[in-house]
Amino acid sequence: MEGKTVLRPGITNPRLWHPERPPRHEWNKIRRIVLERDNYTCSFCGHRAKKYLNIHHTEESGDNSPDNLTTICAACHAVSHIGRNLDLGVIEIWESDKSQVDIIRYTREGVKNGKSLNQIKKELPLREGSYPPDSVEYANSLIPKMRDAPRGYLDEPLCAVFVNFKRWQIE
Ligand SMILES: [Zn+2]
Ligand SMILES: [Zn+2]
Repeated sequence: MEGKTVLRPGITNPRLWHPERPPRHEWNKIRRIVLERDNYTCSFCGHRAKKYLNIHHTEESGDNSPDNLTTICAACHAVSHIGRNLDLGVIEIWESDKSQVDIIRYTREGVKNGKSLNQIKKELPLREGSYPPDSVEYANSLIPKMRDAPRGYLDEPLCAVFVNFKRWQIE
């Protein structure tokens, strides 16, 4: 199944970090509206699930209306916020001839078939980019280029690859 939106590894503009979020009960209501509207399907990779879906702000800002929100699976969400996930050792950045969404689908399928993330990584066509794969410099390098843009993205063929992800996060 195709996603509606192209997925690239990226970061939110640091100026927009820590935006205001509504109180928990209100957020849960908004969350439900967005999930139902999107048919519990990740807008990026097309993964459909009843559990563990996240909500992502399209334009990272204080706008918490459903128009600015989209359903995203935990894997695509990790790719959308690489700074934190490089820091946590969840992902690495590699050059690949596979698209980002294909890497996620391949990883999900492999995990389902009992493969380890390490094994999946070895099977992917990967080349080292300009920094070591676990370097947070990939995220930092986006900051000076972003100016007022709400988000910055790595250029192709750079992709995020999962190295330390819990099973439920990819299922
Ligand atoms: Zn997804
Ligand atoms: Zn997000």
